[in-house]
Amino acid sequence: MKRHKTGRGLGVTRRDFFRNAGAGLMAAELAGASPGRAKAAPVTAPVRFTPKSELNQISPNLYFLRDTCNVYVLKDGNRALLIDFGSGHVMDLLGQIGVSRVEAILHTHHHRDQCQGDSRAAAERIPIAVPEHERYLFEDAENFWRNRRIFELYYVKNDFFTVTQNIPVAGVLRDYDTYRWGDHELLIYPTPGHTLGSVSLIGAVDGKKVAFTGDLIHAPGKVVNLYELQYNYGSTDGVDYAIFSLARVREQGPELVCPSHGEPFNSPEAGITDLIHKLKGWYAAYDPGATLTVDNKPYAVTPHLIASYQTTSSSYALISDSGKALFVDYGAASGNFCSTYITATSVHDRMGFVEHTLDELRARYGLKSVDVAMPSHMHDDHLNGFPHLARHYGTKVWCYENMVDVLQNPRGYNLGCILGEPIKIDRAFRNGDTFKWEEFDFQVFHSPGHTEYQMVLFTTIDGARVAFTGDAFFPRGDGTLRHNLIFRNWVENDSHVKSIRTILEHEPNIVAPGHGKPFLSNKADLENLKTNLENQQKYFFDVIADPDCDFGLNPSWVRLYPYQLQAKAGSNAALELRVRNYRSNPMRLEAALVVPLGWKASPEVLELTVAPKGDASGGFSVAIPENWDRGKPRVALTADVRADGQYLGQIAEGVADVQFS
Ligand SMILES: [Zn+2]
Ligand SMILES: [Zn+2]
Ligand SMILES: [Zn+2]
Repeated sequence: MKRHKTGRGLGVTRRDFFRNAGAGLMAAELAGASPGRAKAAPVTAPVRFTPKSELNQISPNLYFLRDTCNVYVLKDGNRALLIDFGSGHVMDLLGQIGVSRVEAILHTHHHRDQCQGDSRAAAERIPIAVPEHERYLFEDAENFWRNRRIFELYYVKNDFFTVTQNIPVAGVLRDYDTYRWGDHELLIYPTPGHTLGSVSLIGAVDGKKVAFTGDLIHAPGKVVNLYELQYNYGSTDGVDYAIFSLARVREQGPELVCPSHGEPFNSPEAGITDLIHKLKGWYAAYDPGATLTVDNKPYAVTPHLIASYQTTSSSYALISDSGKALFVDYGAASGNFCSTYITATSVHDRMGFVEHTLDELRARYGLKSVDVAMPSHMHDDHLNGFPHLARHYGTKVWCYENMVDVLQNPRGYNLGCILGEPIKIDRAFRNGDTFKWEEFDFQVFHSPGHTEYQMVLFTTIDGARVAFTGDAFFPRGDGTLRHNLIFRNWVENDSHVKSIRTILEHEPNIVAPGHGKPFLSNKADLENLKTNLENQQKYFFDVIADPDCDFGLNPSWVRLYPYQLQAKAGSNAALELRVRNYRSNPMRLEAALVVPLGWKASPEVLELTVAPKGDASGGFSVAIPENWDRGKPRVALTADVRADGQYLGQIAEGVADVQFS
């Protein structure tokens, strides 16, 4: 198979294209057929009209067609790359400019006016690449429509402007990567706003720095509409995003902006600034006093400790005299950039992320590199920037030992707030371990409660004894401390108490929490919290029927691992049953897997003896039929359980995602 020239960096090969196409529009034609012999897919008729316009030349190798959106043609001899596709009418005109082959279509976002003619491109075997976080709105659009809430509508985001039929996706445009086509390099720059997964493509064309910005900006000082900039009922959440993205595009310094609607325009800085100014005016007029993500700024707690507290989770940069930094947490750019991204994330994706704060740290605090990043705990809002740091800045990730597998194998678990992207761990610490980084000394302890997978990190910075405590507790307005309890995060009766005892023992001067500003530690407040937490423990024993009350606190004492199994049709997949026994006696546990009709699990019954207050696990093999229904790519599995002779029923579950070749 010849490797296709387009999008080398993204692995968009013809092989990938056909394989991916198999899951989409052309499944019936391509199933089992080699790409060379595949018949063209039947073209349904999503396009009824023909635009009247002709191709317009912008510069020697750049053209555009006014269709349902502007379709940009980047030409190299007889080959072309298209940015967005509209009705597909462009295919009838390319011969006029000597183009005989379209090598790929890149979409800036998922709206129908950008891609309603894509079935024509699919039929002509043109690879289609789409923004990573909108992939499901192309290739799984029909599923989106089956599940999109219409009654009781409060999430008013206009994802209703999604295509109605699945579009085969050959590759994704991953944020901050570079798309290479011949000599051209296009930076894939996330510009959420008009849609949350929108990207701009920025690179040199005919000697000019060009930004293909989708619908971020319509014309100098104008947007195409305001309704796309409201996601949640009555909010200006999308305006906050648009202003942030416009400021970032302006920093990139494009000389020409090519919007999806409106005319391409040169020297765009003033026009972008004008639009930012107007949108800021509208934002402030609608909701006086509301903060903008673009205005968030870190501040120095001590000369070497810089805190960003307006970011949704607080992010701390400990900057050494060498300019190297150790980060504790690095999450979303703001509360809005966290909550709205999470709401829009498909079940198979990870939340969106845009880079933030690093420029400020470089400019004002001497940051030269982000050497190490450590998560206070495993929650997405605290570490969704870690993959970006590792990929683009070579940052190493260190963590407490029990987070290693959760971060590296996120599909393994069903806990609150797991980021849907694996993070490779470079170094792990055990309870009580000490280490040195640059001129600083640290000690790490397990700090359960908010989640089992949390550390507390102690160090001395500029003479202050600082504790990074994650989400263990927060100050109330009146100075007292409050904790929180999420049963899905793996909580046992003494979790919180263990954590507060460790923190009290180390007597920090400054507590750096996972949300909000660092505060001076007050021993009396910590003691008060300890009393509250011991009291909480009494309630657990009081109210839960089972005297071993942890059975009533932890929904996952019997669980399947991985929780989200991923396996090919026709394969045997390994699935583990894991058990924690909260009894003071050995537990005899029997479990049988309940699988879909036609699947087979072995052994039929797994038998385990679990030590008192101990853990045990055993393995199943699950055979998935070769001819499994492509219409059921995800199924649920359960374990039917008997413990010490008592039949408990199907108390553990997981899902299996079947992959088709
Ligand atoms: Zn649009
Ligand atoms: Zn948390
Ligand atoms: Zn948090």
